[in-house]
Amino acid sequence: MKYDRILIRYGELSTKGRNRKHFITHLKRNIREVLKDFKNIHIQGGHDRMYILLNGEDSDPIMEKLTSVFGIQSFSLAVRTERNIQDIQRVGLSLVEQIFESGKTFKVSTRRGDKSFEYDTNDINHAVGGHILQNIENIKVDVKNPDINLLVDVRPDAIYLSCEVIQGAGGLPVGSSGKAMLMLSGGIDSPVAGYLTMKRGVQIEAVHFQSPPFTSERAKQKTIDLAKKISAFSGYVKMHFVPFTKIQETIHKHIPEGYSMTATRRMMLRITDEIRRKNDGLAIVTGESLGQVASQTLESMIAINDVTATPILRPLISMDKLEIIDIAKKIDTFDISSLPYEDCCTIFTPPSPKTRPKLSKIQYYESDIDFDTLIEEAVNNVETIIVSSEDPIKSEQFSDLL
Ligand code: ATP
Ligand code: MG
Repeated sequence: MKYDRILIRYGELSTKGRNRKHFITHLKRNIREVLKDFKNIHIQGGHDRMYILLNGEDSDPIMEKLTSVFGIQSFSLAVRTERNIQDIQRVGLSLVEQIFESGKTFKVSTRRGDKSFEYDTNDINHAVGGHILQNIENIKVDVKNPDINLLVDVRPDAIYLSCEVIQGAGGLPVGSSGKAMLMLSGGIDSPVAGYLTMKRGVQIEAVHFQSPPFTSERAKQKTIDLAKKISAFSGYVKMHFVPFTKIQETIHKHIPEGYSMTATRRMMLRITDEIRRKNDGLAIVTGESLGQVASQTLESMIAINDVTATPILRPLISMDKLEIIDIAKKIDTFDISSLPYEDCCTIFTPPSPKTRPKLSKIQYYESDIDFDTLIEEAVNNVETIIVSSEDPIKSEQFSDLL
């Protein structure tokens, strides 16, 4: 007996009542996106469950991809049978035989999603368990801690059998909570912030500031590689590269040294907000963590945040660096982030930026300079690409997604 499908369980989203349809639509679209290379599969959407019909495709690489799709609580390889006890016995026995080794224990766990079926949970457990005991030598029942747990899922249309439950990524389907712009540096923190935001169902577009010739192509490639990693959670990520040299040079020349960091952040935020507006985003995400560096004090946040009323999500705000690093390792961005290429901010960073900048002062320092024109110019010269887990694709080639 060969597994013919993967059964997907939703978890949190099944508790979401009226938003349910919306979530399922997003989940299905995201699953389709990450599995687009598997041409033969068919996704069957359900109110309570989703099934991926394998149609002969190898299940291992598919399951590997599914582990990074948010909104999936767990999944299992499964076989569909007709709604009669003989079929359940036959298929159940075959599935257990495939993984049985002498001395192993088992149990049957039935779930009746459809109470109209003629047998109740206990009847099924006994009938199927008894059949397995009769036909496999040396197998024992252990209801507390079995080696093999045969799951029997009774549904209105059929019965689904599976043996192993694989943990999914949890969270909510990416896109179901709207879209936000992630300020993505080459550092450790911002990719983690992006990942955590995606986990709560937000679709991410990345914005990266570069200052050539002070920053190199390699630094840019580094952020593309980071975006590729987090695109595993959504299928693809749109990236915007902002030419920032002129603004940084202007700040360097005209803003007092202690305030240049504050001014830089304010300009980055204004530009990101403009890109957000143009792309219908609802929020901005950063990798800030309270107290980590000079620009991440509450006083700095007052001075920087002043340029916009757009919600700024800071999922790392209360995390320690070590906690952030743990997640970065888990999502496989840590090694890329640790590469030494220069970032546009570090190059112009003064030796001692103000940790308690005053809003009135930075507003005064900026008032003499025509930043509006510089910002407009930067926004007009943004380069946009789409990256997916494969190679980056130029926006022209992918116009239907833009
Ligand atoms: P990270 O590890 O994410 O770089 P960090 O601890 O180095 O964070 P900062 O360099 O102060 O902290 O950056 C704070 C946040 O500002 C970053 O998490 C990121 O969201 C944003 N940011 C910094 N530099 C850039 C950049 N070049 N392009 C886009 N966003 C940036
Ligand atoms: Mg940084």
